[in-house]
Amino acid sequence: MPQETVTRFAPSPTGYLHLGHAYSLFLNHDSARKFGGVFRLRIEDIDQGRSRPEFEQAIFDDLKWLGVSWDGPVVRQSERFGIYQDAVADLAARGLVYRCFKTRAELSAIASAPHGPGAKEPLTAPLPPDEEEAMLAEGKAFAWRLNIRAAMDTLGRREIGATLSDETGAAEERSFDLAALDDAVMARKDFPTSYHLASVIDDAAQGVSLVWRGEDLADALPLHRLLQELLGLPAPVYRHHRLILGPDGKRLAKRDKAATLRSLREEGVSPDEIRRRLNVGAEPGRT
Ligand code: GLU
Repeated sequence: MPQETVTRFAPSPTGYLHLGHAYSLFLNHDSARKFGGVFRLRIEDIDQGRSRPEFEQAIFDDLKWLGVSWDGPVVRQSERFGIYQDAVADLAARGLVYRCFKTRAELSAIASAPHGPGAKEPLTAPLPPDEEEAMLAEGKAFAWRLNIRAAMDTLGRREIGATLSDETGAAEERSFDLAALDDAVMARKDFPTSYHLASVIDDAAQGVSLVWRGEDLADALPLHRLLQELLGLPAPVYRHHRLILGPDGKRLAKRDKAATLRSLREEGVSPDEIRRRLNVGAEPGRT
């Protein structure tokens, strides 16, 4: 018997939802409902500086208005910091993350330096133990970065595979070069987890089998697959959808007030009209 499809919607309560969110929401919700699957909701509120209770409430109001219901409990990332920290500690114990003391200014100086870094030269690297000790003794702030070289050694290969599917369910296996990845930040002092780490841990915790999100996140796929392999998490199928553009041809952002669901609702636009405007259900075979 084929496994049931579990999809999810994972907004960040850092602004009001707009038409782009509604598009992602409908695709995920409708595909779960159409095929007898499960639809999960997750509030991605790891950025405690930008997340606001009123934006979270607005997410629930918008979903109710759109007639969207979800299955099981709402997962709220701010309640799961201990779980992410345990994962960072596990990666640290296995030598898969290292402390990076570089400031943002130092990092941008390296990136814009005329002769470096070359394609193969990493922007950051683990410090020798004595230098690291000295930085810690000085109380310098650091970020935990994933050590891509150590990860490749652990896996014993340089590639990572992913399954991508299109709307028809046709799946395609892809392989990505791990050496092309940066040593991404997994956590910082004031940020107990990065989006990437929390996202893969929670997709697994919520049993998500299909991650269907905007094509702006397509570049995160190899890193997410790598984290799943390193943490022993199952690999969902991935699908990317087009981005909804504003009248200026640029992708919608939270600052585009006119496209927020709440302002459309206040203007008297109906949920059916939103679906029509987004052309949900009339997607081309592959987005
Ligand atoms: N919280 C992310 C956003 O609102 C969603 C990322 C994802 O779907 O993995 O853009």
